[in-house]
This record gives sequence, C-alpha cells and structure tokens, in this order.
Amino acid sequence: MSIFKGIPVSAGIATAPVYLYKTEPIVIDYSPLLLNQKESELQEFSKALTLSISQMTKLRSKAYERLGESSAEIIDSHIMIATDPSFYKDVEREIHSCCIRAAAAVEKVIKCYLTTFSEISDEYLRERAADIKDVGERILRNLLKMPPTGLELLDNAVIVVAKDISPSDTIMLDKTYIKGLATDVGGRTSHAAILARSLEIPAVLGLKNITEVISQGEQIIIDGSEGIVLSNPTTKEIGVYAERKEKEKTRKAQMDAFKLMPADTLDGHNIHVVANIGSPDDVEAVIQYGGEGIGLYRTEFLFMKSAHFPTEEEQFKAYKVVAEKMAGKPVIVRTIDIGGDKKLTCFNMPIELNPFLGWRAIRICLDEPAIFKIQLRAILRASAFGNLLIMYPMISGVSELRKANAILAEAKAELQAEGIQFDSAIKVGVMIETPAAALTADCLIKEADFFSIGTNDLCQYTLAVDRMNEKICDLYQPFHPGVLRLIKTVIDTAHASGKFTGMCGETAGDPLATTLLLGLGLDEFSMSASLIPEVKKVIRNISLKGAQNIAERTMTMETHEEITAYLKKVRDNLTSSI
Ligand code: PEP
Ligand code: MG
Repeated sequence: MSIFKGIPVSAGIATAPVYLYKTEPIVIDYSPLLLNQKESELQEFSKALTLSISQMTKLRSKAYERLGESSAEIIDSHIMIATDPSFYKDVEREIHSCCIRAAAAVEKVIKCYLTTFSEISDEYLRERAADIKDVGERILRNLLKMPPTGLELLDNAVIVVAKDISPSDTIMLDKTYIKGLATDVGGRTSHAAILARSLEIPAVLGLKNITEVISQGEQIIIDGSEGIVLSNPTTKEIGVYAERKEKEKTRKAQMDAFKLMPADTLDGHNIHVVANIGSPDDVEAVIQYGGEGIGLYRTEFLFMKSAHFPTEEEQFKAYKVVAEKMAGKPVIVRTIDIGGDKKLTCFNMPIELNPFLGWRAIRICLDEPAIFKIQLRAILRASAFGNLLIMYPMISGVSELRKANAILAEAKAELQAEGIQFDSAIKVGVMIETPAAALTADCLIKEADFFSIGTNDLCQYTLAVDRMNEKICDLYQPFHPGVLRLIKTVIDTAHASGKFTGMCGETAGDPLATTLLLGLGLDEFSMSASLIPEVKKVIRNISLKGAQNIAERTMTMETHEEITAYLKKVRDNLTSSI
C-alpha cells in the first residue's frame, strides 16, 4: 500500500481500478518494405481503419446523448474523412509505389492533406485541418496497437489517473464510469477541478508523479476531501473508507436541509446565493440545490463542444433555454473566455509562451468583433425570454469596457432595426480578474451596472502565481491581504455608486471565506451548485453585524497564514454554537 498526498479539489470518496490516461508519442518506422510485405501492410491498414471508424461511430452516439447534435457533428466530420474512398486509395498508393509501411504511408498522406488545407483561404475549411490531424492520429494509434487516448470510450467504473486533464477532456467526463480523478498537475482553480466539482466527481490534483508510479488497472481509493490517494489498499483500509463514505453521505443529507432555505443572516439580511454553470444541462442541479439565480454562465463550453463556431441561432437557443428554465431569476451570461487553457476545435489559436497573459477572453472578442457581435446578438435575443445580464471577462481597463459596450450598442441597434425583441435595459457587468481592473474600479463602475469578482484569476494575477501549477500551490493564497484589499476596494466602490458586487471565483464557494466576504459586504455568492447548502448554512448562522466585525479584524492582519488560522477559529466557534 502507498499513500499519495495532493490538492483536494472535489470532495467525496471513491474506490475503483485505475485507468491510466497517458498519451504516448507516436513512433513511426520508416524502413522500406520488402515486396512480399505490401499486402499484409495494406491489410493492417484496413483493420485499423475499420476499428477507427467503429470507435468514432460509438463515440458519436455518446457525444450526441451527452452533449447534443453540435458535438456529434465534430465526430461526423472525422468519420467522413476516414470513410472517404480517396483517403484509402492515397494510402494504398503510398504503400505500393513508395514501398513504405502502412503507418508511414498514413502519416505521409495526412501531412500532405494538412499542407493543402493550410493554403486554403476559406477560414472554416482551413480550420478543418485539426479534424484531419485527429483522425490521422487515431488511425496511427490503432495501426501501432497503442491504447486509445480519449476518455470517451470508457464503459466501466474507473478512477482516471492522468498527468493533466484539459478542459476539452473534461467535456467528455461521464460520471457513470468516471468515479474519481487524480492528476500529476493542476490546482483548486484549474478548470479540471472546477468541472469535477460541478459534476461531483471526487478529485485530487497536483499529485506530482502519480502517473509514473501507479499501474493500469490497480485498485485505488481516492479521498477528494483530504487530498489523498491510496494504492493497493488493504481490506481494513477499504472498510475504513467505506465507513467514511457513509458518514459523508449522512453529512450531505444534513446539508440538504439548507438547500431551499433563504440565505438570511440572523439579523434578517438576505444574501443572494447563486450558481456557476457551463451548459444548459447544469440548470437542473442549480434548481435542485436551491440556487437563486446564475452568477456565471461560462458560455465558452458551448464553443468548445462544437465542430464549428456556434451560429447566432444555436447560441440563442442555448441561452434561451437557460433563461426560460430559470424562470425570471437572474442569469449572468459571461461572453466567451477562450484562450488560456481553453482551446477551441473550431478556431485556430496561436501557441503562446504565456497563454494566461496572452490572447484571451475579451482581448480575442475585441480583435474579432464579428464573432463577438454574434454572441451579443444571441444573448440580447434570449434576454426577451428571461432575466439575463451580460458580463465581460478579463477586462483590464476602461478602454476595453468602452470598446465592448460600443459593439453591444451596435448589436442592439441592429436588432432594433430588424424589429427583434430584446431587453433594452439589460444590465452589463465587468468581471474583476486583474489587479488593474480592481484598482480602476471607480472608473469602470461609471460605465457598468455591476461587478463580479473572479478570484481564480484575480489571485493568479495579483500574486503572480500560476493557478494551474501545483509546485507553487502554497503561494496561491485567496486570503492574502493583497487580494483581500482589492476585493474590499471593489465592493466599496460599487456600493458607493449604489451598484452590486458578486463573486464567481472559487473563493465564493469556500465556507471558510463566507463570513469574511459577508462582512466585507459582498452582495452575491456564486459557486458550483453542490456547494450552495453549506454556504447558506454559514450565512444563516451569523448576523451581518457579527460578520462585519470579523471582516474588520481580518483586514488588520498581515499574512495569509494568520488570516486562515483566524477564519478557521471563527468557523469552529460557529459550528460549536449551532
Ligand atoms: C475566475 O477567474 O475567478 C473565474 C470565475 O473565471 P474562470 O475560472 O472561468 O477563469
Ligand atoms: Mg477567470
């Protein structure tokens, strides 16, 4: 038995065999063939092609079931490439005329297609190069008898152990089979962590080298609350964890009592507790957990699931579903935040040295106003069916806000001229994710209706600590006085103008932070739906006055450690008095 300690990012306990998710590099043998080997190579290619097509067909129906038609379309285009008779003929010709192995022939043909595609002027067609590359890799892996790379083909209960899980991998996570996640890298606010929490899959990240020491199929236990992974557990340990799992179930059931209660403080102040979502499918959980609205709708996931840029109509449908399902409750729709670690299949993004400091979010939207305007038109149109608000991510100053608002004004004018209904008084907010935005909050608030603090990025940019890097996770400190002073400035500035401030970064769902944020005057807490009951419980057990005293004292403290210790004491006193 061995114990691994990592960063606890999604609570819960699971026991299952390991699915080691490793992408080994493809190595191709370029040595020439003997004449009598040509036929057998061609047969191998045929078999690999058939297997690839059957994998993709299976994948298509899974993608359709889980993510809908536009995701299934990605796979359709892959199947079309693989079933194109000219692809088979091109590979066959290479094997015969150049006397090379099937894998070398496939690679050569795919490279040739990629060159042709890169020269096409039509952007949409040029972007199909990624699909060709994907299909080529699948066929090569099957040809070389390498394990498949995706998580999508899993059909038995496993704990996925991987170096990292990208946001596009996480789209394919299926709770039915994936019982837990353990990765070498990543931190609490990486998107893999955020998605694991919203899917309620136990997860421990930042385990450093677990992929090197654990083997495929071995039994492990994962404890997402303590950040522990146990390999080859003894019968006794399995028993201990089964018992803990039962206790956790009971605790969760107790928490559930708070789901539908209002988040009222002891002295009668109502606080808005809402949820973060990534897709219309997440709305059920928001309602089930008692979310009083949506404080962050991460729209980029709609784009990440699609083979093409979602059209205005497709986007409109998705936003309208959310607006209608929330039945008049506020829904803050964030315009796309692509870049950083979020790549799109349908959009070629440059490889950057510092993607989190690079071409990301509002920066892309302002450089590509046509894409941005389509999204704004879709949100505006959906605003006629519910209570929608718009929010811009990664704003670093007033100029960007003005440019974004100018494009919004154009979108409104167009819709008006076309006689299409929308909420002309739709509120527009700014995400506070950069220190520059926090420090110019007084300027920004003049041209915005509200703020929402994105602590995931605000921490990373204020402290200069990569939110994905487990090596420096101790330095990622949401309770650092520097971060807290910015948060206080932002809340106070909005209040001075009679406007509200929400928080949709992960700190908003941390029960340790609830009292402090309440005391600082935060108006809205937005988090993964499953965290709502616990945060409501804290709010219901303290007075606003009491929380203000705690916040005042916290703001005199000088270190993250001192503040954390103090907030833990506050929490323990609160728990013992309940
Ligand atoms: C944030 O930065 O706090 C945030 C909510 O945005 P994201 O996690 O999507 O970057
Ligand atoms: Mg962010």
